Amino acid sequence: MRFDIATLFPEFMESALNESVIGRARKNGVFEAYCHNIRDYTLDKHRRVDDAPYSERQGMLMQPQPIYDCCRAVCGERKPHVIYMSPQGKTLTQSRCLELAQMSDIFILCGHYEGVDQRVLDKITDEEISIGDYVVSGGELPALILIDAIVRTLDGALSQPDCYKDESHFNGLLEYPQYTRPEIWEGEKVPEILLSGNHEKIFQWRHEQSLINTAKKRPDLLRKIELSEEDLCILHKALGGFLKENV
Ligand code: SAM
Repeated sequence: MRFDIATLFPEFMESALNESVIGRARKNGVFEAYCHNIRDYTLDKHRRVDDAPYSERQGMLMQPQPIYDCCRAVCGERKPHVIYMSPQGKTLTQSRCLELAQMSDIFILCGHYEGVDQRVLDKITDEEISIGDYVVSGGELPALILIDAIVRTLDGALSQPDCYKDESHFNGLLEYPQYTRPEIWEGEKVPEILLSGNHEKIFQWRHEQSLINTAKKRPDLLRKIELSEEDLCILHKALGGFLKENV
């Protein structure tokens, strides 16, 4: 899989893309990423890429020409899926990440200042993606979140393949509580079932705890999935009245 990232901060992107899980995956050839400095494509002799908006609003906007020329030069004959990171886009979800992971070629545009001239967005973008209903100063952190969330689902990215499938949001639920050594800490013991070695019971416990955790922390998620009769029984038994009021 290949990512091209158009940004005003290629060094920042490069350094983040070389760290941790993503850095290892990149080094091992699980994915390729190329960061392109939009400023390299401006025709302005002072290397400017922004100008004041026509709407008499304060702040600056990214001009269309450098972005368009960058995109054209990078893509050439290729037709990547072009994503603009934007607070106005659809909010990113795990299921969208899994769909995007099926694509082989993605071009990401990171905005800055007050955003980007609409005309170039209309010309090049296939999709706008938001990381949440708030505004950050640039598209770089959102792009890194998008790339990280996609790459960790690719074969070879995680040391244990498929372990992302056990994590929150993969099946619409949140993960169950996790424990590690020591067995007793500050007088608090790890749940007995996890020490039993009974894999079937541990599996069942994890599912129950996932349901309960989701109902307590994100009841809105439970409304989006189909719960079995057995799941409903587990929830009623564990949460009773809380469930009636919140789910
Ligand atoms: N004026 C714009 C608006 O109100 O929609 C926000 C501009 S923001 C300060 C600058 C850039 O940060 C945007 O062009 C976008 O690339 C990025 N950005 C900000 N918030 C984002 C979010 N929630 N998700 C994805 N990208 C975001």
